[in-house]
Amino acid sequence: MPAAPSLVPSQPLPADPSSILHEVFGYTAFRGQQQDIVDHVVAGGDALVLMPTGGGKSLCYQVPAIARHRAGRGVALVVSPLIALMHDQVGALEEAGVHASFLNSSLTSEDAQRIEREMMSGRLVMLYAAPERIATPRFLAQLDSLYERGLLSLFAIDEAHCVSQWGHDFREDYLSLNVLHERYPAVPRIALTATADDLTRADMIERLQLGEARVFISSFDRPNIRYSIVEKDNARAQLLRFIGDEHEGDAGIVYCQSRKKVDETAAWLVEEGVSALPYHAGLDAAVRKRNQDRFLREDSIVMVATVAFGMGIDKPDVRFVAHLDLPKNIEGYYQETGRAGRDGAAADAWMTYGLADVVNQRRMIDESPAGEEFKRGQRGKLDALLALAESHDCRRVRLLDYFGEPSQPCGNCDNCLSPPATWDATEAARKALSCIYRFHQNNGQRFGAGHLIDVLRGKVTDKVTQYRHESLSTFGIGADVAETQWRAVLRQLIALGYLRTEGEWNTLELTPTAREVLRGEVPMLLRRASDTPRSRGKGTRGKDTRGTTTGRTKERAPPIALDDAALARFGELKSWRAEVAREHNLPAFVVFHDATLAEMARAAPGTLDALSEISGVGTKKLEAYGKEILRVLAAAPAQ
Ligand code: ADP
Ligand code: ZN
Repeated sequence: MPAAPSLVPSQPLPADPSSILHEVFGYTAFRGQQQDIVDHVVAGGDALVLMPTGGGKSLCYQVPAIARHRAGRGVALVVSPLIALMHDQVGALEEAGVHASFLNSSLTSEDAQRIEREMMSGRLVMLYAAPERIATPRFLAQLDSLYERGLLSLFAIDEAHCVSQWGHDFREDYLSLNVLHERYPAVPRIALTATADDLTRADMIERLQLGEARVFISSFDRPNIRYSIVEKDNARAQLLRFIGDEHEGDAGIVYCQSRKKVDETAAWLVEEGVSALPYHAGLDAAVRKRNQDRFLREDSIVMVATVAFGMGIDKPDVRFVAHLDLPKNIEGYYQETGRAGRDGAAADAWMTYGLADVVNQRRMIDESPAGEEFKRGQRGKLDALLALAESHDCRRVRLLDYFGEPSQPCGNCDNCLSPPATWDATEAARKALSCIYRFHQNNGQRFGAGHLIDVLRGKVTDKVTQYRHESLSTFGIGADVAETQWRAVLRQLIALGYLRTEGEWNTLELTPTAREVLRGEVPMLLRRASDTPRSRGKGTRGKDTRGTTTGRTKERAPPIALDDAALARFGELKSWRAEVAREHNLPAFVVFHDATLAEMARAAPGTLDALSEISGVGTKKLEAYGKEILRVLAAAPAQ
């Protein structure tokens, strides 16, 4: 039973984690391993926390920081890679009544000095800073002084995988972070990441000298995310159908590989009536910031972006992440798709991929200036992703297996929901490879996929005539297999490493292992390429409680089912929240989450006490907004 908020300022604040969770954040219970992690760190232990996006990592260091501050231990330093996002993170803490700040290059020198004074006095609870600041002599001198006075409470290293060169977004500045341990050995450290395979994990422990740290590994499953990977046919049309059928008016992210493609796709979506914005490193910083702000603050923006966008974006209600191009590896894919559905409500991870994607990614590795060992690592990782894309069994089982976690078929991915047809492509694969072999016998000639398919299907084109390929023994031996199936066969032969592409024209070449296929030693059970995309239409989701939207309205449904009167209250609460968010220059979800507003609308509390029971309403927010909320609720129309 939560106690009534104490408004007596002189009373010492409770320093135990459960009280802090309730009083500051308004939550009733810790989730999963949070309690163990928090207890361990509050007691001064080091921790490495591997938890999926949306799992609740922030509380794992915020609660200990508050607890240790209340116990007189001063300031926690939070290392976070993206200065652009510190503003909102700190804003959310201040909203909850926690004295937090950030130091970065966006501040005026006056502001920076004021914050430094707060820090040096030990009054600040949390300071956010980017890694490049930490290794500066000036900052280290400040930390020295805090340390000598026992006012350095905790180091939290967020996005800790950035320290690893095996990870997908290595940052040089992270390497200097082991100075924290060497220089301030008595200060507990907590490193957190949502993504780390075995290799990255070991690397992280070594580079951050976390050998003594307790490792907390949560399940990486994100059960509310539905994974779908579709064969690329007409990617734009597929994307539009996906958004139109399933995510009208939702906030989402569309990832593309190149800046040019980002610009073109965003412009095209706008033409098609979708509120899309571009984001990539080539855009003006001001434009980038404006687009990101709009994405965070407005309800239904689709952000079309390169991978430059997203790290640290903690918008909870992103309903889909779509990939128009293949990511580099499973970690990248999982990190990017993990940005959907942090609030726990149903969300989609959708990707379209085709032959060209496989060829491109392979070529990017081959042509990179990196050393052979590194390239081998990258190839292995790409192979795992390709195997996921081509798989006909549960996507989630494969994803979790990659992170070392055994699981059962999930019932919430495309393959579980409508198992793909498979066919025995052993013979077809042999035909394709032997045709390439015949080309090669002719003066070492090489050709691309298009011409190969024409020859296999017995199509007489100019090129066929020019090279007299109609006289090859393999001409027309694959007429019974449709062109789309052939593309799928070739894609999978490349994915599996039996074929590779060469040069500007992506001509096909056998690899040494192709022999096994030619001899018929490798059985090939392949997904049957589907001519018509499988559509599950609307309203088929088991867990989805969202109402249906009509026409092209952009009004979003609440996260729980509400009757008409409650819906009216929800609408009023949202307008009120929008005003507060504008006034404070913060995203609406920082004021209150949709789920919290929906619960208020449902329960319609009439007193501050009753309001304080709702999850997400902490003491500070109750004090700041409680009366206003009661007024809004009372004034809402009955219908
Ligand atoms: P991560 O950083 O791991 O992606 P966050 O820390 O952003 O996840 O948490 C995801 C969401 O879950 C946030 O909206 C947060 O407020 C909420 N959350 C975290 N822990 C709890 C809890 N114990 N009870 C209720 N909500 C929680
Ligand atoms: Zn599944």
